[in-house]
Amino acid sequence: MTTLLPPRIDRHAHLEGSLDPTWVRKQAAQAGKTVPATLEALWRRELVDFEGFIGAFFFACGFIRGADVAKETIRACVSRLAAPGEGLRGIDLWVSPHFLVKQSAFLTLDELWKGMDEGIQEARQQGVRIAVIIDAVNHFGTDHGHEVLDLVLPNKPAWVVGFSTGGLERVPFKDWAKVFDRARKAGLRLAAHAGENGPGSNVREAILDAGAERIVHGVRAAKDPSTLELLVERRIPLDICITSNRALVPDLGPHPLPDLLKAGVRCALGTDDPGVIPCDIPWEWQQAEGLGLSEAQLQALRKHAVEDAWCMNL
Ligand SMILES: [Zn+2]
Repeated sequence: MTTLLPPRIDRHAHLEGSLDPTWVRKQAAQAGKTVPATLEALWRRELVDFEGFIGAFFFACGFIRGADVAKETIRACVSRLAAPGEGLRGIDLWVSPHFLVKQSAFLTLDELWKGMDEGIQEARQQGVRIAVIIDAVNHFGTDHGHEVLDLVLPNKPAWVVGFSTGGLERVPFKDWAKVFDRARKAGLRLAAHAGENGPGSNVREAILDAGAERIVHGVRAAKDPSTLELLVERRIPLDICITSNRALVPDLGPHPLPDLLKAGVRCALGTDDPGVIPCDIPWEWQQAEGLGLSEAQLQALRKHAVEDAWCMNL
């Protein structure tokens, strides 16, 4: 076992999936709601199918009502980092404002931004930098992508630095090119969830067809030498969420992080939806150690976590 400490950055967390389970349980009890069996199972670290995960996810994020809860969620994200100590800490935080504000009408955009801003400023005082990446849902299609940008761009807070797609990888990335281009022209950096629930070839397509400069997961491309070459050549970072991948990636097998690092891909660790699939950065680090990585590979994970984090540029 290494004596290296965990990285100090969470490179991929979703606001909607980050509420603390104890907090959610309490809120559910107060509202007289029963926590779904699938969410209970996930909290016990048991596997459920993807539909079950989506149901659990929607139940948990249904409590994000009002600015105070948005702030509370950011506090929960900060609590999952390595303990304070030497070096900067930070989070690259994904959020889906269109889903929260328009589709679900859980809160207004002003409330969401206010709560997040307060949480982000509070974190900053504790030495934690937070950058926000706006997530559009791939399987809702490109019109939805434009609506996300219509909602966010007019009064974009300064800590919003990126645009991404998430959800089910159903709509080809070439179709997303115009949306990505619009986001880029508005000054946003570009990421995509790819090679998670869709084929590994989506990683290549997200990069070449839509201009993604960062890939979330990408684990299903680990066996494709030409995609690995592309990732290395363009120094495209991969956000790796081991616990989430084990729960949600079909036919994952042994986690491919060792293969990705061996190929020279710039990987770093994230928690993804840690309020739904419980984990934190020290836990993810333990999982990485458990994959038998060399000291040099663990060092690389720590180094990339900082060098490629968008929150470190704020
Ligand atoms: Zn994600």
